[in-house]
Amino acid sequence: MNAPLPAAALMSGADYRESLRRYRPTVFVDGRRVDSVADEPAFQPGINAIALTYDHALKKEYEPLMTAVQHTSGKRVNRLSHLNTGAGDLLNKLEAVRLVCQETGCAQRYLTHDALNAIGQVSARIDDARGSTEHTARFHEYLHRVQDQDLTLGVAMTDAKGDRSRRPHEQANIDSYLHVVERNARGIVISGTKAIVTGAPYVHELLVMPCRNMGKEDADFAVCCAVPLDAPGLTIVARPAGRPGEKLEHGDALFSRKYGQSTGVCMFDKVFVPWERVFYAGDNGTWEHSGHLTYSYATHHRHSCIGARAGFGDLLIGAGALMCEANGFDPGKESHLREQMVELITITESFFACGVAASVYGKADEHCGIFMPDPVFSNIGKLLLATKIYDMHRIAHYVSGGLIVTLPGPDEDHNPETAARLSDVLRANPAIPYEQRIETARFIEDLTAGYQGGWYSVISLHGGGSPAAMKQEIWRNYPVGSKVELVERILERGIGSDGSPAAAPHDPGRAITRNRQPGKCCDTGCTTPGQPVMVDLPATRRT
Ligand SMILES: Cc1cc2nc3c(=O)[nH]c(=O)nc-3n(C[C@H](O)[C@H](O)[C@H](O)COP(=O)(O)OP(=O)(O)OC[C@H]3O[C@@H](n4cnc5c(N)ncnc54)[C@H](O)[C@@H]3O)c2cc1C
Repeated sequence: MNAPLPAAALMSGADYRESLRRYRPTVFVDGRRVDSVADEPAFQPGINAIALTYDHALKKEYEPLMTAVQHTSGKRVNRLSHLNTGAGDLLNKLEAVRLVCQETGCAQRYLTHDALNAIGQVSARIDDARGSTEHTARFHEYLHRVQDQDLTLGVAMTDAKGDRSRRPHEQANIDSYLHVVERNARGIVISGTKAIVTGAPYVHELLVMPCRNMGKEDADFAVCCAVPLDAPGLTIVARPAGRPGEKLEHGDALFSRKYGQSTGVCMFDKVFVPWERVFYAGDNGTWEHSGHLTYSYATHHRHSCIGARAGFGDLLIGAGALMCEANGFDPGKESHLREQMVELITITESFFACGVAASVYGKADEHCGIFMPDPVFSNIGKLLLATKIYDMHRIAHYVSGGLIVTLPGPDEDHNPETAARLSDVLRANPAIPYEQRIETARFIEDLTAGYQGGWYSVISLHGGGSPAAMKQEIWRNYPVGSKVELVERILERGIGSDGSPAAAPHDPGRAITRNRQPGKCCDTGCTTPGQPVMVDLPATRRT
């Protein structure tokens, strides 16, 4: 093992901003070419959010959450680029994501973590299938460079997809899905479109991954590789992050003028990728592993989304309570407001509890030891937040009243003809200054009723996969078979008159019993609920 890196090896937020100047990507926003991403006002809220993940990692009090020791190098790295080796790592990552998203709404960098863990898993799987070590070695070399340089990676997974009812090779426009156009001795050449990439303009590199299971005819679309942001042939057409710049004077974007998230359409036109950055390219049967890669990534990512949206829940809980107080109520005494607040807390902590359960029941990948959250709990947590986000907004509106969308704009705060009277007549609780009441109201408008409020709804619903995808995974992984067998045993079905099993207990042809409790289906005996899986967990509860 190497000696741990000194903390100085981790970048600060300012270093991260500066590091973006090393890249000259082709980026457009609002119909114009961006000269310098680091200086572009439209991206500052997104850059601010990622910068916070760097600054937090340098704070002593956050070190256990925001950093971890990478087991393959012995170096201390940012938690958001670390590979998990135990349930404690998963819990700490969950808490870390909640922490940074409390501050920023969405700190984005956890996508780096989710993709690196999934690519580590698929690399080992491919090696085991082929009896080689080359994929894992290549991945580790890449991973260690990313960690040593403290890079942030974007996830380019969601293809443009064209006609959703057709597979990649059936699309009228081949560029609807990213694909390999050439393989040669030096590397591969890729073209096509990744349609939704968080933080695309201001990350260092993109991790390209397939977004679905691939068949043999789709082998050229099954590609997983890393591309620097300024690779020739890559064009990024982005949206502004949050509500920066000129929108500031409308004044209702208190939070989203500081923190937000850009997304970009990434168009690849014959981009060359050397073999050392290719994790697999569909050839030699590697296309078969795309389903497992998307499954692993989605499981890690949905687990992270739980932490992110719990951080957003924290903002609404705090703001909702402040609004009650500013209106003159103590929710502890006013029962209908307390009910709303308790519902908000219950929603937030119930999906977060799924994240905790997913961590505790997580398992080491048999091919490489990377620890993956339990897929059922990850998917249930993500499904809950995807649908309950609308209730979270409704509760914030309920406790606040209509002022959050009807208050005069902040220019009136300084209008000598109106400001004093407004501040007088719009005060509620005599103990809370008018300025604080309207500030909280504008904060809630920004998070729930303005542009950014709609954005939080849609990212919760579709980010990390649409609800149908979660439902499919829950059904696919839930041990319905064990429950069927439980009831059949109670009903004494399949038991002979002498008490011995009369029929094959696990008929493999019987669809309804196919999914069974881990540990009861195989001799290796994994973990079943109720077993002591939480031995010596170093997780730190902070949020
Ligand atoms: C704010 C935000 C940030 C995101 N960031 C990233 C990112 O960083 N990287 C990334 O790769 N992706 C990212 N995504 C993309 C996200 O994963 C997708 O939005 C999600 O997978 C849904 O895909 P889609 O948006 O293309 O919707 P569609 O696939 O068009 O889905 C629309 C509806 O059609 C249904 N549907 C689609 N296909 C089928 C089918 N074949 N059969 C039946 N029903 C179908 C879906 O279930 C859904 O209800 C982000 C999304 C958002 C909103």
